[in-house]
Amino acid sequence: MLTRSETAYAAAKQVMPGGVNSPVRAFRAVGGTPFFADHGAGPYLYDLDGNRYVDYLLSWGPLIWGHAHPRVIDSVVAAARRGTSFGVPTEWETEMAQLVIDLVPSVEVVRMVNSGTEAVMSALRLARAYTGRPCIVKFAGGYHGHADSLLVKAGSGVATFGLPDSPGVPAATAETTLVLPYNDVAAVQSLFAARGETIAAVIVEPVAGNMGCIPPVPGFLQALRDLTQQYGALLIFDEVMTGFRIALGGAQARFGVVPDLTTLGKVIGGGLPVGAYGGKREIMGWVAPDGPVYQAGTLSGNPLAMAAGLATLRMLQEEGEALYTRLEAYGRALVEAFLDAGAKHGIPVTGHALGGMFGLFFHPGPVRDYAAAAAADSQRYARFFHALLRRGVALAPSQLESGFVSAVHGEAELAWTVAAVADAMAEV
Ligand SMILES: *Cc1c(COP(=O)(O)O)cnc(C)c1O
Repeated sequence: MLTRSETAYAAAKQVMPGGVNSPVRAFRAVGGTPFFADHGAGPYLYDLDGNRYVDYLLSWGPLIWGHAHPRVIDSVVAAARRGTSFGVPTEWETEMAQLVIDLVPSVEVVRMVNSGTEAVMSALRLARAYTGRPCIVKFAGGYHGHADSLLVKAGSGVATFGLPDSPGVPAATAETTLVLPYNDVAAVQSLFAARGETIAAVIVEPVAGNMGCIPPVPGFLQALRDLTQQYGALLIFDEVMTGFRIALGGAQARFGVVPDLTTLGKVIGGGLPVGAYGGKREIMGWVAPDGPVYQAGTLSGNPLAMAAGLATLRMLQEEGEALYTRLEAYGRALVEAFLDAGAKHGIPVTGHALGGMFGLFFHPGPVRDYAAAAAADSQRYARFFHALLRRGVALAPSQLESGFVSAVHGEAELAWTVAAVADAMAEV
């Protein structure tokens, strides 16, 4: 007897590649059949078969107020009643821009787009135009969306010309992407010494979130700031995941390092499709129609997305930094439960929690870069993931993803999760 999710997945596979609209949703890293969402409420996600999960996926990051928060939903409904898109400016866009400028230290001027991918693509075009240089430095295991020049495979600790990570990306495009190990200052220094005058920008997740959650080692972000400044390259913080999630002002506020450009997404849209990029007025002045760098969007600054984002950010602003302290305490308690359970069963584990993000690795640690994260035991993670699902706890369906805590996860959800982690560890 098939479950409703299994039936739904079989139908989906007939009409969409892998049955999904984004590959990770297909559960390939953990095996089994993805469960289909029926609805969400606060910290809980309910599937088609009526199972309830304490949700740590949270739509891959955006839902910092949990599912269907009344203030977010009311704003979206009120906006929808007035029309879904206009193609002329609205005051909501100015309000959103002002709020982002008030909250994010590096942003003086901002442009809204429709996804994180689009934000990063646009920021790179701007950086190349502004510097007149071709090359972009990224870090192995850093994900910056699926734009061609960033779909480049992790290097092996040596700075090399990039190779495309996907067929369809021209080699010439990938060649301008230089890949270095995360948290390795010496590698960045020697790359700049060798080719500094060709580098338009360094793009980095200031807290890595797409190889599990890996914090920057002390001094790493400052070294990137110093080197880019010294060689006339731009520093781009990709805060699509960390923006409004590590702190109200993002990772740049938490670590006190101010980049030239910042890309945003996920939380800024409150669960609707949004991205943004912004930075110094002088650089953003290069963007059309003020400047020559073209970038546009039929639905950019969409009123429903602005409504969801404004409600989300205003609530964050009302709570202030205390919220992030609370989210981090929750994440730490969860990581501790994971470490305790690992120790009890002699299973090597390590974990990180920062702001509203956390990462769990079946690896003895330390995990500071992609090589270590990729060496973690993925089969054990797959068993652990399914053992937790059966106990009503949903993590990301891959160890190389971050977990997220929302403002509406409370003591009851934590207690439920800690018990589930202890039981699941015994099983794996
Ligand atoms: C999710 C993510 C992106 C891509 O955003 P999409 O909205 O999925 O296009 C880019 N950069 C980082 C750091 C991300 O986490």
